[in-house]
Amino acid sequence: MNSTWQLDSLYTGFDAPELIADLKKAESIHEKYRPLLDALEAASIDPQKGIETYLSYLIEDSKLLRTLSAYGHLNFSVNSKSQEALTLVDKTQTASNHLTEFQVRFKKWFSTGDISSKLSEMAEASALIDAHHFYLEDMKAQSRYLLSANEEVLIAHLKTTGSDAFETLQRKASSQLMVDIHLHGETKKLPIMAVRNLAYEADPALRKLGYEAELNAYRQHEEISAAALNGIKGEVLTLSKLRGFDSPLDETLFNARLSKKTLDAMIGTMEDYLPMFHRYLKLKAKALGHEKGMPFYDIAAPLEGSSKSYTIEEAKLFVVKNFGKFSSDLATFAQRAFDNRWVDFEPREGKVGGAFCSNIQSIGESRVLLNFNGNFKNVLTIAHELGHAFHGDRLRCESILNTGYPMPLAETASIFCETIVRKAAMEEADDDFKCLILENRLQGAMQVVVDILSRYYFESKVFEVREDHPLSVNEFKSLMEEAQLKAYGDCVDPELLHPYMWLNKPHYYYAARNFYNFPYAFGLLFATGLYAIYLERGDAFLNDYDTLLKATGKMSVESVCAVVGVDPTTKDFWETSLKLIEKDVDLLESILSQKSDIM
Ligand SMILES: [Zn+2]
Repeated sequence: MNSTWQLDSLYTGFDAPELIADLKKAESIHEKYRPLLDALEAASIDPQKGIETYLSYLIEDSKLLRTLSAYGHLNFSVNSKSQEALTLVDKTQTASNHLTEFQVRFKKWFSTGDISSKLSEMAEASALIDAHHFYLEDMKAQSRYLLSANEEVLIAHLKTTGSDAFETLQRKASSQLMVDIHLHGETKKLPIMAVRNLAYEADPALRKLGYEAELNAYRQHEEISAAALNGIKGEVLTLSKLRGFDSPLDETLFNARLSKKTLDAMIGTMEDYLPMFHRYLKLKAKALGHEKGMPFYDIAAPLEGSSKSYTIEEAKLFVVKNFGKFSSDLATFAQRAFDNRWVDFEPREGKVGGAFCSNIQSIGESRVLLNFNGNFKNVLTIAHELGHAFHGDRLRCESILNTGYPMPLAETASIFCETIVRKAAMEEADDDFKCLILENRLQGAMQVVVDILSRYYFESKVFEVREDHPLSVNEFKSLMEEAQLKAYGDCVDPELLHPYMWLNKPHYYYAARNFYNFPYAFGLLFATGLYAIYLERGDAFLNDYDTLLKATGKMSVESVCAVVGVDPTTKDFWETSLKLIEKDVDLLESILSQKSDIM
C-alpha cells in the first residue's frame, strides 16, 4: 500500500542477515575502543593519530547504531505491540550505553590542557580533525559537567530501567488507549488519536463529545502517567544537580547551545504579544458563539463554511506544487520522499499519535509518520515534516557527528516549509479559503506561542515542586490549569480548560530533552523571521538558507543566526516575526467583519 512507509531500505526484517551482520559489526568496533583508550591514557600513541582513530570508530559506529535503532523505533511507532521492535531498541540502547565508558574516558583525556590546547595545530595537519573542530571543542565544554567514567556508565545503564522505561510505559499506555464514545446512536471504541481528531470536526457536538471522551479516558490513566512523570522529572533533577548545573533549565540551555539572554529576549517578546493572541481568540470565540470565553475543545474548531478536505493524493500534489514555487530542489526532494514511500499517512490501532520525522543520516533517507485525516492542517503537517527531512538531506554530506543540531534549530526548516505552502495557498485562495488558511495559521501560531508558554510555565513549576516531593495527580492537574490561565488569560472559559494536557503531550516524558517546548516557539519565530528575509532578498536567499541548514550541527544557535545576519539576543528580531503574525490577525478580523456585514 502506498499510504504506508517502507522500511526495507533499512532492513527487510528483524531476522534479515544484514541486520544480524550489522549488530556483529557494531560489536566488533566496540571491542576496539578499550585498547585505544588504554593507549591514549598511557601516552603510548601519538595524540593526533589517537584522535583520528577515535573519530573514525565513532563515525562508523554511529552509522550502524543509527540504522539499527531507527529500524527498531520506526517499527515500534506503527506497531507498539511489536516485541521484536522493542528488543532491537533495547539492544541498540544497551550497545550505545556500553560506549559511555569510552566516550567519557576520551572526553576526559582530550580535555586535559596539553591535548586540547593543540587542537588548532592538529586541525591544520589533519582534515578529519579539522572537519570535527566544533565537535571536539563542544566535547571539551561538556567535560566540565561529566562525572567519573564509572558513574557515567552506571547512570547510562540505570536510565534504561528508569526514565527510559517510564517513557516507554507512557508511550505504550497512551498509544494503545482505546476510548469508548457514543457516536451516531451507538457506542464505539476508537483509538485515542481518532477521538482527539474530533476537535477539528465542523459539528460542535462532535468536538465537545470528543473532548469529554478524551478526558474520561485520561482519567483511567492519570496515576500511571503521574508516576511516570514523577520518576522522569525526579531523575532529571538528581542528575542535573550532580553534574553541577544550576537547574534543569540551565542544563537544557547548555545542551541547546543557546544563551539565557536569547531565551529571555524571546520569552519576553512572546509575553508582550499575548494581548494580540487574546484578541484573535476572542474573535474566534465570538464567531463560534461563546459568551463566557473559549472552551478548550473549540480552540481547534474550524470556522463555519471553511471546511475543505484533501485525499492523500491531492495533499501530495499540493505540497510538491507549492514547494516548487520556492525552489525546484525542494519540490524534487518531496517527490522523491513520496515515490520512495518515506511517509506513513493514516492512523491505525497501535500506531503512535501525532507526527514526526526521523532523519536516518546513515542511509541518507528519512521517514515521516503522520496521522492524516484529510484537513488542510494535515496538509501543512506533511510540509512541516518534509521540511525536517529536507534539513536532514542538506546535512547528508556532513559527517554524521556534525548532524546533531540543537533543539531550537530543529524546527527551522519544518516551519519554513509550512510557511512556503501556506503563503502559496493564500495567493490562489478565495475569501472563504483565505479565512480557513489564516485561521489555521493563527491557531498554529497561538499553539506555538500561547500554549507553548503554558507548557513552559507548567514544566518550570513541575520541576520546582518535584524538588520538594513527588506531585499528586491533582497537583499536576491544577498546575496545568494555572499555567493555561496565565497564558490564555481571560479569553478561555475557566471551567473548560484541559487539565490533562500533560498526558497528551509526549514531550514531558523525554528524559533527555527537558523543556521541549520553547524550541517550538524559537522555530516558529525564527522561521517566520527568515521568511521575511527571503521575501526581501528573493532567490539570493536560497544559498544562505542552504549554508544555514548545513551549519546547524556545528555551531552555537547565535552563530547560526549570524549566518543570515540575525541577532537573537535582543527583542528586535522577535518583534519583526510577531508583527508579521499580527498582520494576519488584522486581516482575519477584517474578513470576519465583512462576512458579518453581509449577513
Ligand atoms: Zn517539527
